[in-house]
Amino acid sequence: MNSASSPNPSFQRDARMLLASFLEPAQLLAGCVWKIPASLYINVPFCTNRCGYCDFHSLEAGRCAEGTFDAYIDALKRQHDFWVSMLGIEAYRTIYIGGGTPSVLGSATLARLLAYFSRFSTSEIEWTMEANPESVDPAMLAMLRDHGVTRLSLGIQTFSPEKRRMLERAGNPYKAVDLIRSAHSCGLDVSVDLLAGLPHRSGDPDDCISTTLQDILTVADKVDHISLYDLTVEEGTRLARHVENGQLALPDDDTLKELRDAADTLLSQHGFMRYEISNYARPGRECRHNAGYWDAESYLGIGSGAVSTLLACSSDEPERVLHGLRFTGTRDLALYMEYPEAIDSVNMEHLAPATLAFEMLMLGCRTRRGVSLSRYRQRFGKDISDEIPKTLERWKGHLIWEEERLALDRASMDILNLFLVDCMSEMEGGML
Ligand code: SF4
Repeated sequence: MNSASSPNPSFQRDARMLLASFLEPAQLLAGCVWKIPASLYINVPFCTNRCGYCDFHSLEAGRCAEGTFDAYIDALKRQHDFWVSMLGIEAYRTIYIGGGTPSVLGSATLARLLAYFSRFSTSEIEWTMEANPESVDPAMLAMLRDHGVTRLSLGIQTFSPEKRRMLERAGNPYKAVDLIRSAHSCGLDVSVDLLAGLPHRSGDPDDCISTTLQDILTVADKVDHISLYDLTVEEGTRLARHVENGQLALPDDDTLKELRDAADTLLSQHGFMRYEISNYARPGRECRHNAGYWDAESYLGIGSGAVSTLLACSSDEPERVLHGLRFTGTRDLALYMEYPEAIDSVNMEHLAPATLAFEMLMLGCRTRRGVSLSRYRQRFGKDISDEIPKTLERWKGHLIWEEERLALDRASMDILNLFLVDCMSEMEGGML
């Protein structure tokens, strides 16, 4: 590992001044108190190999110098200590270790990480760790359970060897079937990630629907939670180049819709409910950590490239949100490890209540439960029905009003963006 690639002294100084100005109640935030985040995200930006479609922040583990993982854990602890002292955090309701591929750290390094964070755990915690089958074994699963992890999120994406080659995805996914069994016998809940909209050879007709339905069938009776994300082709990735030069092709929108409908039906026959645009669970097995994001709660993210959103509420009305602060940790690993508490001012954003109100609608409407009307009123001092009356009238055939919540019906979940464009236009005072 090189020393910080940009030993820029103003990085640290500016970040601390910036933090001080945001976190000092007597200055910018007079009359506010920070809501203590109940959720923690820990980013581990290392993977065995770079998949051909990935634009996440991650580095190949084999290219990191000896000692990097331990130094990274030290930086995470230092950064977390800083936020604990700033915000008075005592315990979390949920912890999520994602990446990257946290399991590439190996059992000994992970054990150090978990031992430190377990003091912020409670008996009620949902504590998830992401893993890929090639870097987990039963001994690691037992170690995770012993340190308080409750849930494993396995990245499989597809079982098809041909599709995996197209995605340049390493590992043997069938190992995952044994791992799921081992995880259950350790007492861990298991979620599986699959991809929809897989590529095919250009000019070679393909049934991407049957591949994904077969992937679902391989795991549906073995787990309680499945995430089925649409593959997106990100600019600059190897997959994007293969699609541009015509080597690979992607299914069209009609095929994707047909696939999503078929997946919904198949999963519902196996006892799963689609509770968010890309997520399915058996009743009561929904991911609580992600539910916090969709309810627009505050959360702390630590690690290189991790995002945090903190909410500042009125000291008189603890639920009334007056400010939000969003910041992202630097992706420069060496810089992060040298100054883990720092925040670069270019990666810090002040969120006004109007922005937070729109985000609450946007995130809540991704879910089947929808947005809490009373929570919205408490947070922003307004009723949703007064904020977007024309949008609600226009979409009335697609809305579900239930138990003080507003949600889109199943068919409209897939056209959420159209609904949100109307919401934003009306909230900003535009004409519908
Ligand atoms: S395992 Fe995940 S994070 Fe890592 S390179 Fe592949 S897609 Fe990206």
